[in-house]
Amino acid sequence: LSQLFRPLDMLGWVYRTIRQGVIDMAAMFDLIDTDTEVRDAPDATDLKVAKGHVRFDNVHFGYDADREILKGIDLDVPAGSTLAVVGPSGAGKSTLARLIFRFYDVTGGRITIDGQDLRDVRQESLRAAIGIVPQDTVLFNDTIGYNIAYGRADASPDEVAAAARGAAIAGFIQSLPQGFDTRVGERGLKLSGGEKQRVAIARTLLKDPPILILDEATSALDSRTEADIQATLEAIERGRTTIVIAHRLSTVVHADRIVVLESGRVVESGTHGELLAAKGVYAEMWNRQAAEREEEDGDDALVTK
Ligand code: ADP
Ligand code: MG
Repeated sequence: LSQLFRPLDMLGWVYRTIRQGVIDMAAMFDLIDTDTEVRDAPDATDLKVAKGHVRFDNVHFGYDADREILKGIDLDVPAGSTLAVVGPSGAGKSTLARLIFRFYDVTGGRITIDGQDLRDVRQESLRAAIGIVPQDTVLFNDTIGYNIAYGRADASPDEVAAAARGAAIAGFIQSLPQGFDTRVGERGLKLSGGEKQRVAIARTLLKDPPILILDEATSALDSRTEADIQATLEAIERGRTTIVIAHRLSTVVHADRIVVLESGRVVESGTHGELLAAKGVYAEMWNRQAAEREEEDGDDALVTK
């Protein structure tokens, strides 16, 4: 699950480790469990993001040669719009996100940002343009403030605090004896899945990238915190190209376009209203989840009484 973030985090970590002259072998072996898959082309240039128009043209991909995961994906995400990708687990949703970040190269077709094939640009420039809130966030053995500021080393304490507020984690941090200086990670305070996710959201708020990928960004949160953060996420999606991968459909109703991915193929696409009217896979998922939500609300009501 953490594969999505690790290579990037690892590079930053190695860089800082070398710079600071501190070696933490345990942490290093913990982080270096993915081999780097792609290299910059010798003539690679920096990605120039004019608007952030993301396109998939007939993309094929498999982690292994004998098993294709994505089987001809066409996606068009106009600059500044929000595309939601939904579908059963194992469909290939996180794989799409990994390909946009170029943790792997496509085996067929191409992915472009503002017309530039991802294979032709420097990875550093690509990754600077994209913010990902992954399904599972890996924290550094450092302070919580450092973990939020990661990716924007020049951020001021005020900016870090504002990002924490945006991600609904400021109150939690203030309640810690050492506040933003509290150490987290393996040898510090252990954070819950939801808290880690909020750190990742704060990190992304601070990075302020033109292209945003949210991979089940609120899946580890309880429904009340999710509702809090949902408003923030919708606010940061405005004006950027966003791809939101979601399990809970209530979080994608606002998307400009929704695609349903099944076994590596887009089987339906449209707006929420169009897909409900089509009475297909999406409508079925929606109705099933609506029934579950009612059950949950019933439980909440009992608890608060
Ligand atoms: P989703 O996010 O829709 O649940 P994923 O994109 O994570 O699905 O996975 C799609 C398929 O690719 C699954 O069958 C999964 O087992 C496989 N897969 C994911 N990551 C890897 C990997 N690193 N190596 C091999 N297979 C993988
Ligand atoms: Mg996934």
